[in-house]
Amino acid sequence: MPSRGILGRQGGSRPTLLLAADRRSVGRREQNDSRPASWPWRVHPCSGSVDPSNSKLVFHALRSSRLATERTIRQAVEVVMIQGGCFCGAVRYEVGGTATHETNCHCSICRRTTGAPFVSWASFPKSEFRFTQGKPTAFASSETGTRHFCPGCGCQLVFVYDSEPLVDISLGSLDDPTQITPKDNTQTSSQLPWIKLADALPSFSEGRPDE
Ligand SMILES: [Zn+2]
Ligand SMILES: [Zn+2]
Repeated sequence: MPSRGILGRQGGSRPTLLLAADRRSVGRREQNDSRPASWPWRVHPCSGSVDPSNSKLVFHALRSSRLATERTIRQAVEVVMIQGGCFCGAVRYEVGGTATHETNCHCSICRRTTGAPFVSWASFPKSEFRFTQGKPTAFASSETGTRHFCPGCGCQLVFVYDSEPLVDISLGSLDDPTQITPKDNTQTSSQLPWIKLADALPSFSEGRPDE
């Protein structure tokens, strides 16, 4: 999959579960649309009051209202897709769904594969993630999964779990890293002694107890 630069699309998540449903409902409406092919798409120039006795104007007003509603739903779906990419811009991705496991990981693998003292991540459903540009290079950093990085600038973008339907996104690679805030610190048994975080977040010496 990484060689094609695309991970399969299947599921959904928190802000997006609702939005995925919206997207499906929009598709259904379009499939079941029983309006005649000649249905006028042009909004009637009469944008003021509508005379209820004039069925044609009512027809246009309802049509306009419905189009606006569907347009709003589509825009909402687009907004929840989060974009990110590497430093040089060669590799880009987008992800939707609900973020989980938002964490600052202090494990030695994160440190050694990035050169940073710790790495902030958030998990998303694999089905909601895809590379949209470029081809990342991947390597298995452990038996848990593979890390995908830009072969041009080295930016580590995604960790893909082998046996779970999840990908971890490196928060630093998001176009807007403020969109997601870590909720804890994990693998602190490997935390560098000169890292003194005052974030008051829960800390776990290894992974979270529920994992
Ligand atoms: Zn790059
Ligand atoms: Zn780690």
